[in-house]
Amino acid sequence: MKSALVHAIEFHGAVIAGLSALSYASISPTNNLWGPLHCRGKSDGPPRYALTFDDGPTRDSTSAILDILGELRVRAAFFVIGANARRCPDLLVRMHAEGHIVANHTLDHAHLSMFRGSCYWERQLRETDQIIGQTIGVRPGMFRPPMGVKTGFIMGAARRRGQAVVTWSRRAMDGIATTTDHILNRLVPHTVAGDVLLLHDGVEPQSHRDPSHTVAAIKPLILRLRDRGLEPAPLDDFLNLSAYAKATTEASASS
Ligand SMILES: [Zn+2]
Repeated sequence: MKSALVHAIEFHGAVIAGLSALSYASISPTNNLWGPLHCRGKSDGPPRYALTFDDGPTRDSTSAILDILGELRVRAAFFVIGANARRCPDLLVRMHAEGHIVANHTLDHAHLSMFRGSCYWERQLRETDQIIGQTIGVRPGMFRPPMGVKTGFIMGAARRRGQAVVTWSRRAMDGIATTTDHILNRLVPHTVAGDVLLLHDGVEPQSHRDPSHTVAAIKPLILRLRDRGLEPAPLDDFLNLSAYAKATTEASASS
C-alpha cells in the first residue's frame, strides 16, 4: 500500500504537470488547447507563406513598410494596436486601400493582461474594433492576442465577437532589440510553405523600441524567399478566413 506521503507527492506532481501543460498551451502560438486558432496556412499548391505585422501602426516604420510592399506588389496583414491606430488613422486607411488586411491586436497591448477576465477582454476587442470600423468602415474578422498568449477569457471574447484567433508559425523576434541580419538569418533559411511569419511594424505604447531594422529587412526577406521559390500570400486566402465581419460598419456589429 502506498503511504500518505507517496499519495501527496503523486497528487502534487499531477497538479504541477497539469499547470505546466496549461502554461505551455497559453504561450505556445501553435497549441489549440484553449480553443481553435490559426497558425499555419495551406501547404498544398504553389509554395507560399504569409507576412503579418504586429503592434503598429507607427508613423515612419509602417509608412516605409507600405512603400516596400507596394513596390513589390505584396499583400500583408497588419494586427494593429487600437491606441496606435487612433493616432495614425491615415495609415489604416492606406493599408485598407492598398489591399492589406487590418486586424485586431487589442486596445493597448498591456503586459500581464493575460490575468484579466472577460469584461476586460471584451472591452479590448470591442473598442479596437470600433476604432478600426470608424476609420475604414469594416470590422476585423481576425484577432491576435499580445505575445500570442491565450486563456479561456481571451478565446471566449474573440469567439463571442466572431473573430478568428490568428497566431503564427515562425517569428522574426524583432519585438525586442535585434538587427536586420538577425531577422534575415532567422527567417530566410528556415521558412517553409505554409508558414505564417510574424514581424513588427510598430511598438507597444509603453515601449521605445526602434523598428528600423525590421523595415530594412522586408525587401531582402521577400526577394530571398522568392529565390527559394516561396511567394507571399494574402492571409485571408492562405488561412481560408474572412478578413472582415459580414456587417459593414461597427455601428451594426457592436452589440
Ligand atoms: Zn504585439
